[in-house]
Amino acid sequence: MKVNQAEFIISAVGPSQYPDDALPEIALAGRSNVGKSSLINRMIQRKNLARTSSKPGKTQQLNYYRINEDLYFVDLPGYGYAQVSKSKREIWGKFIEGYLMHRELLKLVLLIIDLRHPPSKDDQTMYAWLKHNDVPMCVVTTKADKITKGHWAKHVKIVRETLQMAKDDPLVVFSSELGVGKDELWAMIEKEIDW
Ligand code: GDP
Repeated sequence: MKVNQAEFIISAVGPSQYPDDALPEIALAGRSNVGKSSLINRMIQRKNLARTSSKPGKTQQLNYYRINEDLYFVDLPGYGYAQVSKSKREIWGKFIEGYLMHRELLKLVLLIIDLRHPPSKDDQTMYAWLKHNDVPMCVVTTKADKITKGHWAKHVKIVRETLQMAKDDPLVVFSSELGVGKDELWAMIEKEIDW
């Protein structure tokens, strides 16, 4: 994918604010601070379109980024952040859940996991829930540059086992720092948005 234009469109707090131009949507899910904004920025080769922040838990809406006239990246609220009250987390849960289950334009969910650590309980719950609801999904293990390359396979194996992934469930090793996995992930996305 050649990105000519990438634009932040809206932070939607409800379905009435979702764009109505019927472009396919690729959503990003993952715990706060896992590297979702950095991944978007790397995919579109911008330093700072998607806001990166070292302060987790800030995103409380669906952030829509339009890429060319081709698709949207939709950054979902980060989950599992300890400082968010339980009741608030449940509201986020329902909000995400409604979008994931009912948005027909949603073509693929990228479940972003930190390659360095075994997936958390929240990651496992999210993976199982997406699988159970037949939401098309690709696991993306990011921050790969923080581990030596020789150890990637071992970490990928732990991620696959912890999430109980089937053998042919897709997983892309990624680094926003180095650009590893970018072309592979674009290929995956292009396949899903049926051109
Ligand atoms: P978000 O909350 O999921 O959007 O996470 P951010 O994209 O803001 O990233 C959180 C922190 O992790 C920031 O300090 C990023 O610079 C860092 N980060 C994200 N992706 C990578 C990566 O692939 N490699 C490295 N080394 N750092 C990363």
